[in-house]
Amino acid sequence: MLTCQQLTELVTDYLEGQLPFRKRLSFHLHIGMCRDCRTYVRQMKLAVRTTGALPPGDIPDEVRDQLLRRFRDWKD
Ligand SMILES: [Zn+2]
Repeated sequence: MLTCQQLTELVTDYLEGQLPFRKRLSFHLHIGMCRDCRTYVRQMKLAVRTTGALPPGDIPDEVRDQLLRRFRDWKD
């Protein structure tokens, strides 16, 4: 089972269709149960559709920090 943090690390590969089958399965399993990640993936997809490409490089640190903070709060 993926953690939310692992999911955010995989989302780029996921959107590019680069995830191996088993990871894609874990990914789907996680977003099936985790509303925050589902929202997150939807936003990433939207960003890809809007810009026509994935943002260069990784997720901006700012966005990632914000997400991780939210996930932490949610778990506590
Ligand atoms: Zn999650």
